[in-house]
Amino acid sequence: MASEKTVGVLGGGQLGRMLVEAANLLEIRVNFLDAAGSSAKQVSAHEGHVDGSFKRREAIQELANRSDVVTVEIEHVNTDMLEEIANEGHDVQPSWKTIRTIQNKYLQKCHLKKFGVASTESAELEENTIKQLEKISGELGLPLMLKSKKDAYDGRGNFAIKTKTDFKSALDFLGAKGELYAEKWANFRMELAVMVVKTKDGVFSFPTVETIHEDSICKLTYAPARGVSKEINKKAQELAKQAVACFWGKGVFGVEMFLLMNDELLINEIAPRPHNSGHYTIEGCPVSQYEAHLRAILDLPLHQEDLELREPSIMLNILGGEAPDSHLLVARKALEQRRTKIHLYGKGEARKGRKMGHITVCAPTMSQAERLIQPMIDFVDRDKP
Ligand code: ATP
Ligand code: MG
Ligand code: MG
Repeated sequence: MASEKTVGVLGGGQLGRMLVEAANLLEIRVNFLDAAGSSAKQVSAHEGHVDGSFKRREAIQELANRSDVVTVEIEHVNTDMLEEIANEGHDVQPSWKTIRTIQNKYLQKCHLKKFGVASTESAELEENTIKQLEKISGELGLPLMLKSKKDAYDGRGNFAIKTKTDFKSALDFLGAKGELYAEKWANFRMELAVMVVKTKDGVFSFPTVETIHEDSICKLTYAPARGVSKEINKKAQELAKQAVACFWGKGVFGVEMFLLMNDELLINEIAPRPHNSGHYTIEGCPVSQYEAHLRAILDLPLHQEDLELREPSIMLNILGGEAPDSHLLVARKALEQRRTKIHLYGKGEARKGRKMGHITVCAPTMSQAERLIQPMIDFVDRDKP
């Protein structure tokens, strides 16, 4: 057993599933708090799990009582409860303060600004009115991105405002989603991401990757980022590490960035947990983002060399499609491809756009990896106009 400590996780989706796959190899016990039969619980048979919602007080308390270190696979959790259990002496990693600051994307931006970390300029709406948007668009210019402060993922809390005529539809679309803020439009050349690991000994980083989003959902990740100089690659890693260093506690963090036309880098957002843009590390690096998270929160050794890329890697998400089994067709097609690793998350029912699995291809060169993955990209795009 690599650690005597038991890990408790709020949430048991695909990130938890891949976390426990890494934990199993080290005989580390992981308790999940989520619905019975959730993705992560399916691959972890023991009596320590808690069934229920990770937003419920009693359930969180129960998980904490059964675990030595409490962590999260989703940031949309009850941080008052995490604060309470931390005050009772439970080890919460990363800190509830980090999760509370990051889960509110506007607070996250203010925190980064306070620490001098370059990120997209933001302004909050005092009230969700056209008048406020008039004022803010005067400051930040148009287009701008209107965003929900909380509970956002896969772009669902975002609305791109191109002209003043979009003000009303933006508020109609997001107005009911609580407090809003606006971000200056990032006219980016590429989107980059870096997984960062914060341990008791310091801050380490995986390579800089390129992410391609479609309909605001991550579709592809290229590691390393294509056509990006060594300097920018390094600068992105440094910026990501600088950002993570200003938060409290230990663990893995996903840092999303924009590379602007003038090569300036700005942080888009941070996730205080394993991240979609780090799935490639399972096959691509000696230690995956999941194992790195466990090592960080359990104070086990970790070296920068463990996080270096072994071979160029491309990850393609398998999303739910029009038919309930569309994602299975993609997986079956992927079985025919060479050098392709398939991960299915055991979520059962597919909804359009729901993350059902992913594929990773590693090859000695990026162009080989690109050639190998192309039939799969063509397959998932087959019905596109
Ligand atoms: P996630 O699933 O990554 O948590 P999210 O719902 O939090 O997504 P964001 O990361 O804020 O959404 O935005 C989703 C995508 O929208 C970004 O990856 C980027 O393509 C685009 N986007 C976001 N903010 C801006 C901006 N300020 N300017 C231009 N494009 C943006
Ligand atoms: Mg987000
Ligand atoms: Mg994002």
